[in-house]
Amino acid sequence: MELLKQKILDEGTALSDTVLKVDHFLNHQIDPSLMKEIGTAFKEYFDDRGITKILTLESSGIAPAVMTGLELGVPVIFARKRQSLTLNEGLLTADVFSYTKNESNTIAIAEKFISPEDEVLIIDDFLANGEAAKGLLELVEQTEASVAGIGIVIEKAFQEGGEVLRTAGYDVHSLARIASLAEGEITFMSGVEV
Ligand code: 5GP
Repeated sequence: MELLKQKILDEGTALSDTVLKVDHFLNHQIDPSLMKEIGTAFKEYFDDRGITKILTLESSGIAPAVMTGLELGVPVIFARKRQSLTLNEGLLTADVFSYTKNESNTIAIAEKFISPEDEVLIIDDFLANGEAAKGLLELVEQTEASVAGIGIVIEKAFQEGGEVLRTAGYDVHSLARIASLAEGEITFMSGVEV
């Protein structure tokens, strides 16, 4: 997605060889018109899959997931990382190791929001080692629903998550795939986006 790649080049910062900061438009301040384009791009790719629900992880997955939900006309569920007094019955949980925070979180959804007949699209902001995606897949597995695919805004293709998930048979569609962040320079994978 050219607009997204340009935004990453213009406003993103390589904090190290492995971490990209994009708090100007995705992780802190949010660019609504970019999110709208992201929703359109995911709709175009996943349109014919019979998707009935979108599942993401709070907080940075919510904006792209909601715009995709708007385009596909389906509800969006975000897995919560923190305990909530109102989210207290019929919970499904999974443990996720956070790449950027270097800590493990239990993520949870209320089981009533996803049923075995659902076709679930998983959306997240970043794909690095695939821990967040695996946690979300574990939640869907517990609901006995099907996974229609995984939509990622920014994939760091030099980390293993994308390969692990694709090898496991999941259709992972990333809107920008980063080949390297070495020496503060952001470079994208060449060729066709997957
Ligand atoms: P994974 O679970 O695939 O290892 O990492 C994905 C999760 O970690 C995403 O949900 C995202 O919040 C966070 N993350 C991983 N790498 C980066 C990065 O380079 N920049 C930012 N801003 N977040 C990242």
